[in-house]
Amino acid sequence: MEPLKVTGMVLAASPIGEHDKRVVLLTLERGKIAAFARAARRQNSPLLAGTEAFAFGEFTLYEGRNSYTLIRAEISNYFRELAQDVEGACYGFYFLEVADYYGKEGTDEREMLRLLYQTLRALMHPGLPRPLIRRVYELKAMAVHGENPNMLSCTRCGSREELRGYSARQGGALCSRCMAGERDAVELLPSTVYAMQYILCTDVRSLYTFRVSDEVQRELGMVMDRHRERYMEKRFRTLDILQAMTENV
Ligand SMILES: [Zn+2]
Repeated sequence: MEPLKVTGMVLAASPIGEHDKRVVLLTLERGKIAAFARAARRQNSPLLAGTEAFAFGEFTLYEGRNSYTLIRAEISNYFRELAQDVEGACYGFYFLEVADYYGKEGTDEREMLRLLYQTLRALMHPGLPRPLIRRVYELKAMAVHGENPNMLSCTRCGSREELRGYSARQGGALCSRCMAGERDAVELLPSTVYAMQYILCTDVRSLYTFRVSDEVQRELGMVMDRHRERYMEKRFRTLDILQAMTENV
């Protein structure tokens, strides 16, 4: 049987038995897959480091009828800085859990993998505010999977002018005229609407190059919380940990 080579990142790793591991990989070629890594927890195992969360590189697998077995990991980036940075790791694990939530086997996750990789790099960049990185990632991850708030036009009348609010019920922006008729509408600054449009329309590579005011960051956070609570069917364990750690993100 020919082994299969994939490029991807370890989203999660869990111990099995005494020495083995099960890893979840987000890959360019196969979407999200789970693989068994025999003896990967032995100290001298060549798979030891390559089966830790965040490891990115090339993985060689055997494809069985119902499962994959990992035989080699050639890692190009371990994101090791995150291991020495508790707060950074909390953000990182949350980003992995979001990717895990959306990922499925056989779907095209190339854009998500690019987003995840760039976001982890942004996380290790000392000049970038992490609460903003989090909101940009949430919005873009939703957009990659078609679940983002529509911020490009009014969700009620379709107008592109005077977008001044957001409604979770409508799933996106509202113009000033339609705001009045929507009970759960919240008002937004024009620069918050603009920032969200920018994030939605910008390629992953250039995503983490802008700053916003504290007020815009707060509004962006509020919109993303409302949208996540309404449209994502999961409570993220890693988000609870992150929130406990950072309090007022
Ligand atoms: Zn409208």
